[in-house]
Amino acid sequence: MYRSNEDRTEHSASFHQALYQRLMSHAVKEDPNAGFLAEMIASWIAGEGALPRFMGLEKDAYDAMLETFFPGMSPLDAGDRNDIEPERGPELEDVKALLLTHRNNSTDAELWVAQIVASGCMGSDHLWSDLGLFSRKNLGIMLKHNFTALAVLNDKNMRWKKFFYRQLCAKEGFIMCRSPSCETCSEYKACFAEDGMFD
Ligand code: SF4
Repeated sequence: MYRSNEDRTEHSASFHQALYQRLMSHAVKEDPNAGFLAEMIASWIAGEGALPRFMGLEKDAYDAMLETFFPGMSPLDAGDRNDIEPERGPELEDVKALLLTHRNNSTDAELWVAQIVASGCMGSDHLWSDLGLFSRKNLGIMLKHNFTALAVLNDKNMRWKKFFYRQLCAKEGFIMCRSPSCETCSEYKACFAEDGMFD
């Protein structure tokens, strides 16, 4: 059957939403991570965002994550998503380590979220969009929920990926900025967002 581009876009959006609703109907209610993961999984399956195979997790961890947060859900796999280039492995591990150094130690889900977020940082769009989250605000809330000590350090509303890399550079004693002050820097709009992070 012929479908116009508009029809295809509409079909894909309704598939995306239907999948999200199906995930949420299985979601455990106790942990807000279920909602964030449902957004990311639905986007990933619908071919949106930049998450790689199994959302950056090992297959076993991916299956365990689905079973923990969406019990009874039939297996979901986005199939042919690419792997992250091996040469970016050290960078990914650095971002993951930064997150895990600040994890709340509340649940093992923090390990999965750290791996997924670090994998999303290998994308080239805004991090919330590469992760498949529905808004930047949700990214802020997810980070605060799992890595509170790190999230609250971003008190100037810096874009999250920039913020992570700035933290990593500062740790190594590098300075990534050409300007001594953000207020006078020509990169200001690239580094800071205008909308709120947590509300
Ligand atoms: S706005 Fe300029 S000085 Fe501030 S973090 Fe960005 S690049 Fe660095």
